Amino acid sequence: MSISLDHVSKTFEHGGGVAVDDVTAEIPSGSLTAILGPSGAGKSTLLKLIGGLERPDSGRIVIEGDDVTNLDARYRDIGFCFQQYAPFRHMTVKKNVGYGLKVRHRPKKEIAAKVAELLELVKLSDLGNRFPSQLSGGERQRMTLARALAIEPRVLLLDEPFGALDAQVRAELRKWVKELHEQIRVTTILVTHDQNEAMEVADQLLIMHDGHVEQAGPPTDLYDRPTSEFVRGFLGPITRFEGRAVRPHDLVLSGPTPGLASGTVSAIASLGFEVHVTTSFDDGSTSWIQMTRHDLNDLGISVGSRVSVRPRG
Ligand code: ADP
Ligand code: MG
Repeated sequence: MSISLDHVSKTFEHGGGVAVDDVTAEIPSGSLTAILGPSGAGKSTLLKLIGGLERPDSGRIVIEGDDVTNLDARYRDIGFCFQQYAPFRHMTVKKNVGYGLKVRHRPKKEIAAKVAELLELVKLSDLGNRFPSQLSGGERQRMTLARALAIEPRVLLLDEPFGALDAQVRAELRKWVKELHEQIRVTTILVTHDQNEAMEVADQLLIMHDGHVEQAGPPTDLYDRPTSEFVRGFLGPITRFEGRAVRPHDLVLSGPTPGLASGTVSAIASLGFEVHVTTSFDDGSTSWIQMTRHDLNDLGISVGSRVSVRPRG
């Protein structure tokens, strides 16, 4: 059981063009799948199609065996965490979290119990009586997640949920979302344009480009065996060596060695533990090599040094 997309397409009128172009994909039940791609790739539109906020022009969408293609969003059992679903500013955290249950006319006692359970889960138990403006960015996102989970959805859809937050809070929240998912195992789709976020959080990746799916599968499969230059370039660092695209950590730097490509180190960028060493070869081409600072120090290489480079393995 899963979410199946079967030749799903969506074109917007008034010059919007083809946003989602013949997408066929399987999203495994209980997975945390990241839809990754550049801006304008059709990620949000695909998420809205799954959620029922947009209708496809053609194709079928099946959730856990039910064809929901023509089903209204309200009946799809989906929790949304979209930027356009901002919290209700005039409601407390508790009221925000309980909102979905209230509009479904659940008994007050049941709502209170569920809200308490969810606030515990997202670690906001002490902040239930605050208003959204009295929360930090990270806390507000956790509240939004609790609100999305209140209706016990079959599927949780998150569209760039960490978009507006600073790097450190983003990193904390993504760890936290992964842990939460391990606890509750609800099928979750996270849209992001951030490759690191997708690689770290997701157990499945679906890479979109110009409305279509470029490649789908576990993150390491896509990283190690990209089927297109687009995926290779999008999913990790690349450099060129002897006319080919390669991972910069798959190049090995050494002192000048006969028979190997040789050149001069033209730049060293230090990112703390990691360094990027740019080498200008005698034939005029350049590559950059990713290595640890420790390994570079051991080689005793600095800008201007003569070096050789070979592919690893
Ligand atoms: P992403 O989320 O990957 O950045 P979107 O799904 O938002 O991409 O958009 C994909 C394409 O569809 C873009 O070219 C965008 O301009 C267009 N698009 C999205 N929503 C609409 C809309 N409501 N009306 C017209 N065009 C739209
Ligand atoms: Mg988007």
